[in-house]
Amino acid sequence: MSEDLEEVRRETADCLNCSLGEARTNLVFGDGNPSAEIVFVGEAPGFYEDKQGLPFVGAAGKLLTELLASIGFKRSDVYIANVLKCRPPDNRDPLPAEIDACRPILLRQLVAINPKVIVTLGAFATRTVLNRNVSISRVHGQTFKMDDFTVFPMYHPAAALYARATRELLSEDFRKLKVYLEVGAAQSQPHREEATQLDLF
Ligand code: URA
Repeated sequence: MSEDLEEVRRETADCLNCSLGEARTNLVFGDGNPSAEIVFVGEAPGFYEDKQGLPFVGAAGKLLTELLASIGFKRSDVYIANVLKCRPPDNRDPLPAEIDACRPILLRQLVAINPKVIVTLGAFATRTVLNRNVSISRVHGQTFKMDDFTVFPMYHPAAALYARATRELLSEDFRKLKVYLEVGAAQSQPHREEATQLDLF
């Protein structure tokens, strides 16, 4: 039996595995339904997330909430987390050492929730979960099989805020996700890869 999500939250609440922990207002563990069928994984908390201790509460979060609504979901239906649990200074990109320090927490969350689909938002989340250097423009909207999970990369909502073409692609990927959830893996597009493993421990 895998550990439960609250156990992971408790055990990581005081994390200082990288220097971002020292500067945080709040660790942003994640939010939503602990038994969700879909988990969304973003990059890292920003200013508002750090203040509130909740993921995706700023402008990108507003768009994520709208995209979820467009396929009939509320935020409370899904689980939302990030690769990094603490805000990088000035919202800079996560460093490899920070990702390495934080990835085990994300993997414990994924195992505890055991979703059907992991939607990775943007290049950092996609590379971290798939554990390889992929290009988001090439892999978005495709499915990757990893253990019992399906990984479904998408563009990050922040990238779609001021870029109409990216916004269209993201909306289209949400529609594809809906179809995938409705018709199931069997009738949907074939997985891009079958043999990848989450590389848990
Ligand atoms: N961007 C992210 O990747 N995560 C958040 O929580 C907010 C913005």
